[in-house]
Amino acid sequence: MPCSPRLSHPCTRPRCDWLRFTGLVIAITLCAGSVAHATELDDTRELFQTGRYQQCITVTQQALDARRYGEDWPVLHVESQLMLGRHEEARAATTAALKRYPWSIRLRLMSRQMFHKAGQAEQAQAELAEIRRLILRFPWRYTDTANLVACGDALLQLEAEPRDVLLNFYDRAKKENPNRPDAYVAIGNLALEKHDDALAAEEFRAAVKQFPDDPDVQFGLARALASSDSQAAQQALDRALEINPQHVPSLLFTIDRLIDAERYDDAEATIRLVLEINPLQSQAWAYRAVLAHYAADPKGEQAYRAAARGRAVNEPSVDYLIGKKLSRNYRFREGAAYQRRALQQDADFAPATIQLAQDLLRLGDEEEGWQLAQAGFKRDGYDVVSFNLITLQENLAKFRTLEDDDFIVRMDAREAAVYGPRVLQLLQRAKQTLCEKYDLQLSAPVIVEIFPDQSDFAVRTFGMPGGAGYLGVCFGNVITANSPASQAGNPTNWESVLWHEFCHTVTLNLTNNKMPRWLSEGISVYEERQADGRWGQSMTPQYRKWILDDKLTPISQLSSAFMSPPSGMHLQFAYFQSSLVVEHVIEKHGLDALKLILHDLGAGVPVNVALERRTEGLAKLENDFAKFARKRAMALGPDVDWTEPRRDETGIIEADAGAPLDSKNIAVLTEHAKTLLAAEQWESAKQPLQKLLELLPEDISSENAYVLLATAHRQLGETDQETAVLEKLAARSPDALPVYLRLLTLAVERQDWKAVEINANRIISVNPLLPRAYNAWARACRELGKPVAAVAAYQAVLELEPHVAIDAHYQLARLLHKNDPQSAKNHLLRALEEAPRFREAHRLLLKIHREQKSAEPQESAEPIETKAD
Ligand SMILES: [Zn+2]
Repeated sequence: MPCSPRLSHPCTRPRCDWLRFTGLVIAITLCAGSVAHATELDDTRELFQTGRYQQCITVTQQALDARRYGEDWPVLHVESQLMLGRHEEARAATTAALKRYPWSIRLRLMSRQMFHKAGQAEQAQAELAEIRRLILRFPWRYTDTANLVACGDALLQLEAEPRDVLLNFYDRAKKENPNRPDAYVAIGNLALEKHDDALAAEEFRAAVKQFPDDPDVQFGLARALASSDSQAAQQALDRALEINPQHVPSLLFTIDRLIDAERYDDAEATIRLVLEINPLQSQAWAYRAVLAHYAADPKGEQAYRAAARGRAVNEPSVDYLIGKKLSRNYRFREGAAYQRRALQQDADFAPATIQLAQDLLRLGDEEEGWQLAQAGFKRDGYDVVSFNLITLQENLAKFRTLEDDDFIVRMDAREAAVYGPRVLQLLQRAKQTLCEKYDLQLSAPVIVEIFPDQSDFAVRTFGMPGGAGYLGVCFGNVITANSPASQAGNPTNWESVLWHEFCHTVTLNLTNNKMPRWLSEGISVYEERQADGRWGQSMTPQYRKWILDDKLTPISQLSSAFMSPPSGMHLQFAYFQSSLVVEHVIEKHGLDALKLILHDLGAGVPVNVALERRTEGLAKLENDFAKFARKRAMALGPDVDWTEPRRDETGIIEADAGAPLDSKNIAVLTEHAKTLLAAEQWESAKQPLQKLLELLPEDISSENAYVLLATAHRQLGETDQETAVLEKLAARSPDALPVYLRLLTLAVERQDWKAVEINANRIISVNPLLPRAYNAWARACRELGKPVAAVAAYQAVLELEPHVAIDAHYQLARLLHKNDPQSAKNHLLRALEEAPRFREAHRLLLKIHREQKSAEPQESAEPIETKAD
């Protein structure tokens, strides 16, 4: 079992010699650092923090010329030079400063970084060795905040235990001088590096309270929150850039996010901004290589990669970054190739190892993927991603695998026994429908993993716990999904989820994963609707309003609607709009046009170019689509009065002239009906509810008129009417579990076995783990003369309720009696174990026994076995 890698918890991994070493430093009594020229220095530091690098260089140069004492002056001077990419000046200034301050660890760390960037590995190593010597020899020198943090940074480069560095240097620095942000930033960054975003967020949140005007602190918070709270992350990022518009790390992070949102033009504009500040900024060039890749410009990609690398040899971080960005946008194969290059330059570079492990697992190359995950964990036991992967691997080992020619399905063993075959059938149906429709021949089996534990799903999918909103994710030939067991409170139709994800498999295969997010989602949602009218999304009053209020995102920027949506509903709207665009393209230009667009994407053509080419031009498409969407919106409730009714301060609708029943306003009618229901005026409530259903039959939101009307009928004992109303709702809703359950009860009561079968299957398509559904379905199958399905249903009951399934055992014995008397006997014995006085079971057992005897008179009576099935 691997140890917990969290920085906040101790790791039981053997410690290296540095522990003794770090202890030594801490044993030294801290003394006050130099406070000379504090105010002047603070003013100069502010120049740096607000991005006035040139001014900072001028002021620090004056101080250096005047031979002002203190390493802070040259440190700030060199930092400013480096910000502007003036490496040679920075080198010269560092060399000069080290003559005066040969003991300065902060200067030597910068010196090491410069040697490294210049490809002078030996000199870089020599600096590190010198730092080590200095710390060991003169530990009393390095006890102020800045130096404690610098020592911590250096020790991490010397491969000290991160947790020891955290406790003995960073935490110590924070305690000794809580008025400086350095230690907070160092701790937060270390946590980010280990993918421990929660710890990083905690640290930066505390820092922001104290140092709201520090751009590094705001930027750190933005990074820490990016995966959990996109909006808050954006706010922090905006704040950092407000304080310092030239804050290169924040600008780089902005580029990163713009690339994820597929806003490539904006990303390029920000890259230009960074390169204006620092023409040699390595990451900016790396991002430009990523953009060149997306623009199918291999020459540019190569040239920008070379610019990013500069003179650094054996420097893996550029290839790591390019690969990571490609993988983020689903180019796992290309991303993996970059990670391999990174590892060629430095085989011990843990981030590339871990990223490659994830890429390979997403590509379905599991053997090497897991090996690398193990290797990554060995290399960096503190990295949360590799720790999570190792734990996941252990959990996955307990899963059961179901296979056919096209799919490898992994599920929890019990779930596999209950509904595994149904999963395979559904996937086969999806494969036959969609592969034929889109002319795709799958070249390898598709791996589908269904997780009963949401956090396992998240780790397999994102490398991290989180992502609670996702039901399933497709990487191409690997699909991950949450099992219904993980969504107790809010179950969704798992069949529609798998259909949706498999559709991604088709479109990702067709385009070699070169798929803009919106189009991929749009086709999947559209195909859900094609497969089953209840699946996918449909027009709602909210969507109608947004469309009519011109809130559609332009098609050319549609992927950005998936990034930082203001609410969950906005994200859903992005899916819906995307599916409408697909529907419009198919209606107006034909399925073949869509297929040609996919073909173009596969060949590396940017999506907007493909749309331009395969429709009547992008501008016309935008225009036509807006009209199409408006028409669709207008078609919802054409007779409804959509005005917002006036409400008093408590939220109650103010009475207008005229009876509520004359109104065509949904809110007015709904409120009127609810008042009547609350007063138990069931008969009177029927009228407004029936009117609501006439006006807006599409409304299947949680408190819809169907449910309310069914309640009224039920109270009045009008079972047939109740059934009819609920049946209408069931025919529209893909996941109305309580409605299906009620319909099942009603169908069993009136012994309508066809209806029992339909509703049991509706239930199973949402929650396949309810014994009640299988019991009822099994009975229906018996009544409808479907013994094979009945056996499967009873077997599911046995899996789900092994200790109370006496009737299931008995019924299975009856069903198996003719063809498999031995199994029948076993089931009877199991039933009798639980209920020894079960007379029918005794009778049937005796009967089978006699039959077997008379069929084989030459053999002696076979001893009754009690083995399990
Ligand atoms: Zn999707």
